[in-house]
Amino acid sequence: MAIEGEKKVIEIELEVSNLVKEIKGSYATGKTRSYEWRMSQLQRLLQMLEHHEQEIAEAIVADLSKPRFEALIYEVAMLKNACSLAVKKLKHWMMPEKVKTSLTTFPSSAEIVPEPLGVVLVISPWNYPFLLSLDPVIGAIAAGNAVVLKPSEVAPATSSLLAKLVGEYMDNSLIRVVEGGVAETTALLEQKWDKICYTGNGRIGRIVMAAAAKHLTPVLLELGGKSPVVVDSSINLQVATRRIIAGKWGCNNGQTCVAPDYLLTTKDFAPKLVDALKHELEHFFGENPLDSKDLSRIVNSNHFSRLTKLLDEDRVSGTIVHGGKIEKSTLKISPTILLDAPRDSLIMNEEIFGPLLPIVTVEKVEDSFDIINSGTKPLAAYLFTNNKKLKEQFVMTVSAGGVVVNDTVLHVSVDSLPFGGVQESGMGAYHGKFSFDAFTHKKAVLYRSFAGDAPVRYPPYTKGKLRL
Ligand code: NAD
Repeated sequence: MAIEGEKKVIEIELEVSNLVKEIKGSYATGKTRSYEWRMSQLQRLLQMLEHHEQEIAEAIVADLSKPRFEALIYEVAMLKNACSLAVKKLKHWMMPEKVKTSLTTFPSSAEIVPEPLGVVLVISPWNYPFLLSLDPVIGAIAAGNAVVLKPSEVAPATSSLLAKLVGEYMDNSLIRVVEGGVAETTALLEQKWDKICYTGNGRIGRIVMAAAAKHLTPVLLELGGKSPVVVDSSINLQVATRRIIAGKWGCNNGQTCVAPDYLLTTKDFAPKLVDALKHELEHFFGENPLDSKDLSRIVNSNHFSRLTKLLDEDRVSGTIVHGGKIEKSTLKISPTILLDAPRDSLIMNEEIFGPLLPIVTVEKVEDSFDIINSGTKPLAAYLFTNNKKLKEQFVMTVSAGGVVVNDTVLHVSVDSLPFGGVQESGMGAYHGKFSFDAFTHKKAVLYRSFAGDAPVRYPPYTKGKLRL
């Protein structure tokens, strides 16, 4: 058995190494550098999304039982927008940027020339399996790179559809999908890439970064973390609760990197907030949310047991104030709210990535900021308030990949904002023009003529020259 396993690994390594050699050879022809190639590939990608919208939604629904609406809006529509923007702006993004020069180089001119990095690897996760696979690929193509995409094996229907569609629509001498799990990803990571873009959890992020370090390959790491929501009492309670619910349970039932992980509010306001959440939850998902078609299931039994373990801790189970219903056969967990779970419990220390929402109570709402800043830096942080001073204080003192005031999650749809983490929630950013930049080297170019040659810079370095 062990020998068979080793043989399989050797076969995978050989296949991967041949594929990478082939793509590097095609990249070396310079084909990806032209505007025409980039544009044609982006247009093909757009066509692919348009022609196969329903098939894509079906694959996502099959993998995650995600509501079709979520698959179409949060994955297909977002990708179409990203691709359309790249098509619209490509010429502009590719243009060298003229910059000023200094007196030292007079006479001269200078520009920053965007140059493709080369052959890049994109490794994507299961939770938005189409969006998070192709969104970085759009940036990589626009920037003139060749790409190998490794989708998540945890979303197999989407992975195989991606392989099929990319095979049919894209230039396969330069853009390819490699399907598989740990063995395939490990083999891919042994290769020398010009950039690796990885989206997923921080544990694997460390493996990716260590592999990249061997070749000094730059990385874009899109990771996760515990994204907090601070709720002040000076708010429109109904709108705030709806937006919290939309970001938590309305996005893949909490299995979203920027989903609210926990709430912070004052002891006095907590009962009002809990009541409002309960009311709106029932309004959105009915009396028996386990039967609701608008709530995704948990992706698989591993993640299901991970989440139920968080609830099973004795000290934690007593703090459940809403929900807590589970159905193992369908992998469903109802929206669950916990009040004041112990700060040293698992649920308060691990990224939840599911439908459980603990609420932490504080004396003054400002105390929340210290609690957030005492942990690792989250991917997102949210605040609900009408208090101008509190907003300013939040934006200036809370460190997170992105911050939203009076909503959740929506910053990811603003393509003029960079999307990425900080510290343990990630490294680098993409979306919109930032995606182009993430896969581009900004080459510094200085043009001089033979005129204006100043002897002062040449030896011998006499005292007289120093006085200048
Ligand atoms: P996952 O299990 O699908 O893993 C991600 C990728 O890593 C997959 O392609 C998988 O094949 C690969 N992988 C798994 N084990 C590996 C190994 N030993 N060596 C090399 N590669 C390996 O997804 P996940 O990690 O469960 O995704 C959820 C996490 O991702 C959460 O932490 C979430 O916050 C984060 N996330 C971040 C973003 C973002 O944009 N910042 C988006 C989505 C998810």
